[in-house]
Amino acid sequence: MELRVIGCHGGETPRHRTCAFLVDDVLAIDAGSLTSGLEVADQAKLRAVLVSHAHLDHIRDLATLADNRCQLHCEPLTIAGTRETLRILKKHFFNNLLWPDFASIPSTDEPTIRYLELKPDKPTEVGGYEVRTVLVDHTIETASFIVKGSDGSIGYSGDTGPTERLWKALNEEPNLRALMMEVSFPNREQKLATVSGHHTPRTMAKDLAKFKAIKDLPTLLYHIKPVFQAEVEKECAALPGLNLQVLQLLDHFVL
Ligand SMILES: [Zn+2]
Ligand SMILES: [Zn+2]
Repeated sequence: MELRVIGCHGGETPRHRTCAFLVDDVLAIDAGSLTSGLEVADQAKLRAVLVSHAHLDHIRDLATLADNRCQLHCEPLTIAGTRETLRILKKHFFNNLLWPDFASIPSTDEPTIRYLELKPDKPTEVGGYEVRTVLVDHTIETASFIVKGSDGSIGYSGDTGPTERLWKALNEEPNLRALMMEVSFPNREQKLATVSGHHTPRTMAKDLAKFKAIKDLPTLLYHIKPVFQAEVEKECAALPGLNLQVLQLLDHFVL
């Protein structure tokens, strides 16, 4: 599987983009920067987007992506998320007020987007991949994903603070190639991290210890807040015994 980083930060500046990742150029994980970071031809190649939760930094480019793909007469784009995530998208985002309802444009028979509900712990086929959805612990309902390709799988934590189910699921996964793991704030901002449902390097290290294979598995860190980038990177570099790598824009992995 190929993994491409379009955006990997927990905020935005001209040098930081909100979260969006591509598996084999056809399956997106979150949509924070799918149009700000991808050329139109690559936007048109997408089959599906896995949406971890409905916070703006993970969904906002769904608006401009749908608009572009509608004009290009693309095949319907599958937007996959939990029932609650889809409910929020329909009611508060593609609601014909904030943005047009692209699930009925140009017509309900041939729409620009189609919703696909992901049920927790029930493997579902999305865009040619088997996806396992595991709920994590954030301020709104948020999913983590285990995406299975033909030659292995990738874990994606979603926005989360300390959690349990994800580690149990990952411990059951036989052929994991990498884990994309959130960390957002430095240790001194623990209060802010706790109240916003995110990790600091300290809580992340504690959580990673619940995962048996963690020493061998590449752990790719994302969602660092731009304001704290250098500080969080320094604190992560000081964590012993882990195979950590801070993701950068345009990183490309063959896993
Ligand atoms: Zn969030
Ligand atoms: Zn976020």
